[in-house]
Amino acid sequence: MINEFKFFFTPKEEYQRRYGICKSCERFNDLTKQCKECNCFMPMKCKISNLPCPLGYWDIVDSTSETDNLETL
Ligand code: SF4
Repeated sequence: MINEFKFFFTPKEEYQRRYGICKSCERFNDLTKQCKECNCFMPMKCKISNLPCPLGYWDIVDSTSETDNLETL
């Protein structure tokens, strides 16, 4: 079970990189924390390793090395 989570969640550093890009993106709604392209709640979407940015600003990652990013959900 834990291995499924391991490959499901984005590594912490990649999460921070993704969310940093979103926060400076013109398509980011800072009030709701949603992307205006996909309407996703980005603090959550950035944690899912196999979901990409719809405009290609960041891409999927194929594995994770840590589960400690669960702490910031
Ligand atoms: S997912 Fe992509 S388009 Fe949407 S806010 Fe983030 S960087 Fe911008």
